[in-house]
Amino acid sequence: MPTIPIIRTVAELRAVLAERRRAGERIGFVPTMGALHAGHGSLVTAARREHQCVVASIFVNPLQFGPNEDLASYPRTPERDLALLAEHGCALLFMPEVAEMYSAGSVTRLHQTGLTDVLCGRSRPGHFDGVLTVVLKLLLQVQPDTAFFGRKDFQQALVIRRMVRDLDVPVSIATCPIHREADGLAMSSRNRYLSAEERAVAPELFAALRGVNDGFLRGERRAATLVELGRVALARGSRWGIDYLEVCDPETLEERGAEARAGDLVAVAAKLGPARLIDNLLLGENVPA
Ligand code: AMP
Repeated sequence: MPTIPIIRTVAELRAVLAERRRAGERIGFVPTMGALHAGHGSLVTAARREHQCVVASIFVNPLQFGPNEDLASYPRTPERDLALLAEHGCALLFMPEVAEMYSAGSVTRLHQTGLTDVLCGRSRPGHFDGVLTVVLKLLLQVQPDTAFFGRKDFQQALVIRRMVRDLDVPVSIATCPIHREADGLAMSSRNRYLSAEERAVAPELFAALRGVNDGFLRGERRAATLVELGRVALARGSRWGIDYLEVCDPETLEERGAEARAGDLVAVAAKLGPARLIDNLLLGENVPA
């Protein structure tokens, strides 16, 4: 099985990367929480295109989990993760312990308003503070030329772009397409929580988004009607607990009150059994059938 070095401390990470930079290598960075799948692999592949040295991190960040969320049960598959990263040409893995990232007495947190007040930010208070704090720390530790994020977490990518702009962090942010299973389900580490029965109905989430998109392509422009199309589709199976399903401006994430436009974001979060799943598409997008 192919393998790559695992680095556990910030000091060692800095030393190794300084060497690679001195050798003239461009550094690409793919932050993750592990339990990796082909979607994560696609980020590494994208990073490899223009970066000789691709660093991945695995860190299940306690700060971004709410008290009733799945921090303790979050899946951990380090051996498989290592193999997947090596197969995709990743150069090294940064996998710090919690104590290495948050030394005792660490009290500084990053907070952003606006983009974080809606969608997942509304239903997961404090989540984006945790994400921003850890991502800024990781960007300062790795100092990559480019950091790669997935569009599956559309709001996260937008919030991070905004943070980088607001704080003049010297890094490019790349956002990569959503990687899906053959039946349309967006790949996610949390798909592992699904029973066989739940896994069989999980593609309904993307199907509902496709239904909204089809409505738009047929000429429906009323945002409320489009949202209703999606809600009705999910209600049919009666397995889903919808957290939100919205049509919004893809830059400000403001909900469309009246007219939807091409390129608008349709975002959904819903619970299926123990898993809270999210997905999205852009209206008018050419999506797989
Ligand atoms: P996570 O390990 O879930 O925190 O995800 C790490 C990175 O991988 C984030 O930038 C995610 O948006 C991205 N990612 C997760 N799932 C997918 C997917 N199905 N397709 C593309 N990127 C993904």
